[in-house]
Amino acid sequence: MKSLYSKFLIFTLVIMLTSALVAFLAVNTFYHQTLKAANDEKNMEIVKSFVSYVESTKENDLKQFLQTQADAGYKLIAINEKREKETYGTPFRVDNLSPQNIDRVLKGEDYHGMKHFPTETFMTGFFADESANTVGTSFTYNGMNYALFLRPDIKFLFTEVHFLLAGMIVTMAILSLLAMLFMAKKLIEPIVKLTEATKRVGEEKFTDPLQIDRKDEIGQLAQSFQLMTERLGENDRIRKEFINNVSHDFQTPLLNIKGYANLIENDPPAVERKNYAKVIQAETERLSALTKQLMLLTSLDQLLSPLQLKTFRLDEQLKETIRRYRWALEEKEMSLSLELDEIELQGDPAFLEKVWANLLSNAIKYTETGGSIEITLTEQDNTVIATFCDTGIGIPEEKIGRIFERFYRVDDSRTKEIGGSGLGLAIVRQVVELHGGNITAKRNGQQGMTFIISLPKL
Ligand code: ADP
Repeated sequence: MKSLYSKFLIFTLVIMLTSALVAFLAVNTFYHQTLKAANDEKNMEIVKSFVSYVESTKENDLKQFLQTQADAGYKLIAINEKREKETYGTPFRVDNLSPQNIDRVLKGEDYHGMKHFPTETFMTGFFADESANTVGTSFTYNGMNYALFLRPDIKFLFTEVHFLLAGMIVTMAILSLLAMLFMAKKLIEPIVKLTEATKRVGEEKFTDPLQIDRKDEIGQLAQSFQLMTERLGENDRIRKEFINNVSHDFQTPLLNIKGYANLIENDPPAVERKNYAKVIQAETERLSALTKQLMLLTSLDQLLSPLQLKTFRLDEQLKETIRRYRWALEEKEMSLSLELDEIELQGDPAFLEKVWANLLSNAIKYTETGGSIEITLTEQDNTVIATFCDTGIGIPEEKIGRIFERFYRVDDSRTKEIGGSGLGLAIVRQVVELHGGNITAKRNGQQGMTFIISLPKL
């Protein structure tokens, strides 16, 4: 598997080479289509100006004149009718000017060797140091016919400016390659960090924060990853705490049962035996209730039993729940006031019944003898609102935010006496939220609590 970095490196090099090749081909085509003929024409003008100068100024020394032009950057070949040949400037690397072409020029024809130089593929013709790669024309000097062939000397074609430009292009190419490699490294660095972080999360290590401080897409990815890790960490903490709580809540009644069973074994007096048996019974019921609540929570979590929606009369369901708690209310001499509008709702009656039962049993549990409870059920803008208001011991303001957490008990000592598991309100919230609603709790001034549930009419 190639690393992202090497892929980037290869990709960059391929792009650079391909663009260089495309640029070369484009320049080459331009040379063949346009430059070659233009170059020929330009040099033809020069050679023509030379010969017209020689012909117009009779007393001129031909050799001297041609040598001066050669010094100025040209290669020249002068051939007279007797085929006597003189070369000026640095000699041609290849002397391949054909006698036929020389003859033609001596007869007065112009020679366009630059234009017709046979270099189909590359623009090397531009640089070919061959005597065939020239332009030629004829002139008369001292009554004799001459053919003059010319091309610029490559040495003079490359000036300091050309070297400067070439240096600039090479420096630019090297610098941009280095910059791209540096950028790629910087770009890949956080991805490497992210990969290491995912490995740590895989090993259930949620604590190390990601050190990526960027605002771009990778920064956003790192931020989302960090958020996800924090949530996973929090879930992990909750899961461990949950297991711890469950074990603890099972352990206490089991120890009690074991202790009292031991006592019974020692054959205590009948009255005591009866009391011990009652404790064992109560503890067994507590365990059974706890197991049922846990099973309910698990099924809500996993949605193994998704909502079985039905349209039913909510006020009637509430009345039925209250009826089942009538004996508890009477036992604590509590008064109950009801204000229930006739409301039909689409929801899961089995789950919603748990909501009312938990809220009512809490109101009874946490209210002293002789207190009162008020339950209302109304409908506003397609939302059903149920309130449970009691005159009980209430919950301190700073703890209200936590009462919907699993196993959270406001005051361990007071709930232990009453026998709460801390799961009731967690179940209530989950069921309400599954119905798309929400639940809030607030203190009633000096005394008691009010729980407000709103459920949208689906
Ligand atoms: P529990 O089974 O312990 O009652 P819940 O989840 O139903 O668990 O309630 C969480 C905590 O909130 C309880 O331990 C109790 O201290 C507090 N609480 C719930 N309802 C009331 C209420 N009506 N009045 C006062 N405190 C309440």
